[in-house]
Amino acid sequence: MYRIGKEEIEEVRKVIKSGQLFRVGEASSGHLGECDLFEQEWSEKIGSEYSLLMCGGGTAALVCALAGIGVGPGDEVIVPAYTWLATATSVLTVGGIPVLAEVDETMALDPADFERKIGPNTKAVIPVHMVGRPANLEAIVRIARKHNLKVVEDSCQMIGGTFKGKRTGTWGDAGAFSFNWFKIISCGEGGALVTDDREIYEIASIYSDSGSAFRPKACELQVPIFVAQQYRADEVMAAIMRVQMKRLDGILADLRRARKRFEEEAKAVPGIRVAPSNDPDGDCGVVMTLQFDDEKRARAFVDVCPLQGWLGIDHGKHVYTNWTPLLEKRIMHHPDMNPFNFPQNQGLRMDYSEEACPKTLELLRRTFFISMNPEWTEDEIKSGSSALKGALSKV
Ligand SMILES: *Cc1c(COP(=O)(O)O)cnc(C)c1O
Repeated sequence: MYRIGKEEIEEVRKVIKSGQLFRVGEASSGHLGECDLFEQEWSEKIGSEYSLLMCGGGTAALVCALAGIGVGPGDEVIVPAYTWLATATSVLTVGGIPVLAEVDETMALDPADFERKIGPNTKAVIPVHMVGRPANLEAIVRIARKHNLKVVEDSCQMIGGTFKGKRTGTWGDAGAFSFNWFKIISCGEGGALVTDDREIYEIASIYSDSGSAFRPKACELQVPIFVAQQYRADEVMAAIMRVQMKRLDGILADLRRARKRFEEEAKAVPGIRVAPSNDPDGDCGVVMTLQFDDEKRARAFVDVCPLQGWLGIDHGKHVYTNWTPLLEKRIMHHPDMNPFNFPQNQGLRMDYSEEACPKTLELLRRTFFISMNPEWTEDEIKSGSSALKGALSKV
């Protein structure tokens, strides 16, 4: 979350005054329909047929997307080794097994390794657009189609950005966004699923709404109703998100402006390399990304960096070697509900050891991410980028 203020307060005030905080209600009784409006507006903004706002975050959106494409026991889903662990655990939630693939220098899923990792039980792939940097969707979708695989985009950290002019989240069969506090726009917690596919939308609606029990239009669904989880959004979060959505383009413009300037300064230092991007113009500008020749030089920079940032390998549970519950195969509260124990999953690939993705670890050890701030003034950008240049000249 970068910006929030009196516009959100005003919209929340209206919802509270209406006295109707549940997403379903009658306009004739003063219900504002914020959730429905957000979903319409989000679809228009992102460019998808359907949107579904959820209280369960990007994780819920991923789970519903995977349920929507039919992932279950016996299925492998390929995920990058550098991502928030929820990308992998969402596969386990629906009964499938996540299989790790390497990232490339762009720090997103390596299309070549993705293709190498495809096996007889592979059902889908989840490209992740980490820190607002797009994965190579063109290559990934092409490979997936060739092998008859589904694509679910994890766009939780990339909200509003594009790859080749098309918004991320809309390239695959479904996309997931997160609106938790650490993301580009936020209502504290929450997320959204987007898709053009009616069946995915219906399954996700049912999965996330106690079998669509409260949907006034549930009788129009073609998919037979089943009961799964309850991730329904409420009117307060939708009211906040409708304002946040209006702030998005301004936030992205300011982040991108800062990133461009910082990159120019960094590139002027001999021997310093900015990590390649799959689409520098579509990139959200959340970070600028430096790639050093080796870990020693990267560590030396950590000690002198004048700005907020982190070395990839120190990124906690975004690095697969720190996904303790997966390493120890501890999923769900009961052993019979642990997908690692399912008979259908025996024989599937479950290697999360240090050796699984050595290239990713090697890259993370020498890739440094510097956080951009959309509130920086022209002067702050100038002094910050020249301080960066100074620090880089020392390492
Ligand atoms: C934040 C995030 C998620 C999960 O989102 P929540 O809203 O916390 O559930 C999933 N994947 C990635 C890459 C994320 O950054």
